Amino acid sequence: MRDQARVVVIGGGIAGCSTLYHLTQEGWTDVMLIERDELTSGTTWHSAAQVTNFGMTQTMVGLKSHSIALYKELRDDPDYPVGYNHGDGGIRLANTQAQMDGYRHFASMAAGMGVELEVIDAIECGRRHPLISTDNLLGGLWDPTDGHIDPAQLCQALARRARLAGAEVNRHTPVTGLTQHPDHSWTVHTAKGDVRAEIVVNAGGYRCNEIGAMMGVSHPVASMEHQYFLTEDIPAITDARHRMPLLRCPISDYYCRQEKGGLLIGFYEQECRTWGMDGIDPHFSNALCPDDLDRVTDVLEGAFARMPALMETGIREVVNGPITYTIDGAPLVGPIPGKRNAFCIVGLRAGLGEGGGHGWLLAQQIVHGEAEYDTWVIDPRRFTGHATVELTALKAVEDYQNEFRFHLPHEHRPAGRPMKTTPLTTFLASEGAEFGTVNGWERIDYIKPSPDFEETLSFRFNEVHAVVAKEVEAVATGVGLTEVSGFNRFELTGADTHAFLDRMVCGAVPRKPGRVGLGYLLNHHGLLKAEATLANIPASDREPDRVWYGSAAASEYHDMDWLVSHLRPDDDVRIRSLTNAQTILVLAGPRARDVLSAAARGDWTREAFPWLSIREAYVGIAPATVLGVSFSGELAYEIHVPNESLHAAFAALRRAGEPHGLRLFGSRAIESMRLEKGFLHWKADILTEFDPFETGLDRFVRLQKPDFVGKPALLARSETGPRRKLVTLVVDTNDAPAHAGTSVRAGADIVGTVTSGDWGHRTGLNLAYAFVEPTLAATGTSLAVDILGRSVAATVIDSGPYDPSFARMRS
Ligand SMILES: Cc1cc2nc3c(=O)[nH]c(=O)nc-3n(C[C@H](O)[C@H](O)[C@H](O)COP(=O)(O)OP(=O)(O)OC[C@H]3O[C@@H](n4cnc5c(N)ncnc54)[C@H](O)[C@@H]3O)c2cc1C
Repeated sequence: MRDQARVVVIGGGIAGCSTLYHLTQEGWTDVMLIERDELTSGTTWHSAAQVTNFGMTQTMVGLKSHSIALYKELRDDPDYPVGYNHGDGGIRLANTQAQMDGYRHFASMAAGMGVELEVIDAIECGRRHPLISTDNLLGGLWDPTDGHIDPAQLCQALARRARLAGAEVNRHTPVTGLTQHPDHSWTVHTAKGDVRAEIVVNAGGYRCNEIGAMMGVSHPVASMEHQYFLTEDIPAITDARHRMPLLRCPISDYYCRQEKGGLLIGFYEQECRTWGMDGIDPHFSNALCPDDLDRVTDVLEGAFARMPALMETGIREVVNGPITYTIDGAPLVGPIPGKRNAFCIVGLRAGLGEGGGHGWLLAQQIVHGEAEYDTWVIDPRRFTGHATVELTALKAVEDYQNEFRFHLPHEHRPAGRPMKTTPLTTFLASEGAEFGTVNGWERIDYIKPSPDFEETLSFRFNEVHAVVAKEVEAVATGVGLTEVSGFNRFELTGADTHAFLDRMVCGAVPRKPGRVGLGYLLNHHGLLKAEATLANIPASDREPDRVWYGSAAASEYHDMDWLVSHLRPDDDVRIRSLTNAQTILVLAGPRARDVLSAAARGDWTREAFPWLSIREAYVGIAPATVLGVSFSGELAYEIHVPNESLHAAFAALRRAGEPHGLRLFGSRAIESMRLEKGFLHWKADILTEFDPFETGLDRFVRLQKPDFVGKPALLARSETGPRRKLVTLVVDTNDAPAHAGTSVRAGADIVGTVTSGDWGHRTGLNLAYAFVEPTLAATGTSLAVDILGRSVAATVIDSGPYDPSFARMRS
């Protein structure tokens, strides 16, 4: 074993083997994989190894397409062919209209990535899968590429190719410790000696937290026991002249694929079980958990009813193994929060299907600093301080129980809630607030019109539409109040703060005390990395002068790592997170100034406190920091209050608002209003795949600045011209919004993808943002948008159709 490598990958399952192989493909060959036992001795060896192209975001679809293309290439490699049954086809079943709508949406989204999925009715499901009954079935989603692969051969093939390219693979070599040095490099301690490495990758599967502990981190990953069984031969299969398609059933929670002349059936039972929470036996390797078929009886009944042939065959073998889950079901692939030169590829629950793609995107991140697609949906930094293993275990159980039941729009499942609350949460609930969750925080969605009001979750506009309409009307004509919990807030102090921000931000950084501005941070490819509200708080009797950096709730770890990694040793800049210490109350509407003036001493006139100002004040008796900014397009104030004073500030605003008819409102109303104003959401519309010009943020770029992170790349980009442009569309239907991921068409061609869509209640328009081909971005261009299986006319309009002169928010 060599004693040095540029990258050491720890773990030889599909995650580690794929990462190693792709590192060599990206040009780094001084790389090493270290495995405690044999390759694939963790979860990988006993995987059912189904490989589908279905995904719920375009990034997931794209990375799965990469897996499939790679696996086909490996299958066809004459030197080391891998067993891969590609193209058996697979059906995801549905027995509700909402599921069918979901499939229509996901099919449109996949089409934008060049993947053809087909929505079929129940009769067609029965025709394509001759073993199933169509009772209680509405239809399904057909994936023609579905299949399964031999997991051991796959990993051996990847390791073999990596070795041929120069990588080293060390088996039977447990990693026992990790030491990081001041230059951020590592010593990897193993049972066979130490290895110096610039970068380490945790690919430890269900042991990822043993490796995490060696570097002082805990990954939000928990394991579940997961069982499948293999049947004896079934005559209807052996007699058929074709292979049976795969099945995934959200009605009875199982999957099924052909295995030799019989079936392999895997179960997601309600009585499921976490595994290894109190530590894992060091000898658990190439091992399984004890069978427990009693637990899956309920699921079995559903499977028998759907496939009566199952009742006539015997069980050949039962497999029960640990499978890893995270808080939201997607894995953690990318930089480890708070660490330098450390990456992970863990929490994979569909690692065989996805592993080819995840290893690819991780290798790109390691080598190029960024991957081909925006990887936020798999970024380990998307969870922050609440992401404990305890919470993960609760969410893992919930996710397992709902494996094939995708989240419907606005669905926030109950496990692990409430996780993060403010002092107002209980009170707001008593006022009728319905909450969603944002990065674990309970946040008001809308105020229920009656205590027994319940939303019918749907891809279409539902009864909440009218509720939100009333909230928007109250804000537009009078005044509304809402709480925005969990907003990210860093405090920057030190003599070099402004110079540092100037280096980080591609546009102007406000320098005047008491002023606020919006800044965009780019990566070294000139693509959008972060968005921040920058506010200069003047010195006061409370504190010396300082800058606030405000950004989206989930961005805390992401943005902190980005800022800290760019600090130079001699920079006099200190960064402190205030995210959990304060909460925002938003006061919005033409009467907002009257209410603020009544609640807080001081001159709040337009002249004394114009738009984009910041000032410390007391709201009632509560110390607060007030910003004159608006996401709704109405005159509005963001009032940041330390949590211990939040109730006092809220009560003062409520009292002051009473004569003005102040109403509570929620984030669904904000979503409607911000779309009418052309305002963007980070990681919905602001993506690391696009630069600020493509995203329509030209006015926030100052190319004449001497330097900023990403400037050379942005200059080069501006010469080649945009690949896509973000536009606003009016969609010609009042039935459903255009959900993120929906394809935009010109004739039969797919020419773009929707990033956000909702009804604009003040304009009466069904609005959407979409990245489209630049030649189709002009105002007035006629396009079409897929709305749940229908092609609906859509027209490009100028961004921000509500109050285009910005008169209301500046009033
Ligand atoms: C029953 C079952 C059925 C499944 N079916 C499917 C399916 O149909 N399709 C699909 O896509 N996915 C499926 N999965 C999930 C899939 O198998 C996993 O997502 C995947 O195998 C995880 O791979 P991994 O490399 O992350 O982890 P592992 O395969 O567990 O690999 C981790 C490796 O790290 C090594 N390691 C750990 N600690 C150390 C250390 N200290 N030093 C050195 N090495 C170390 C381990 O020995 C192990 O080899 C299934 C899982 C189960 C349990």
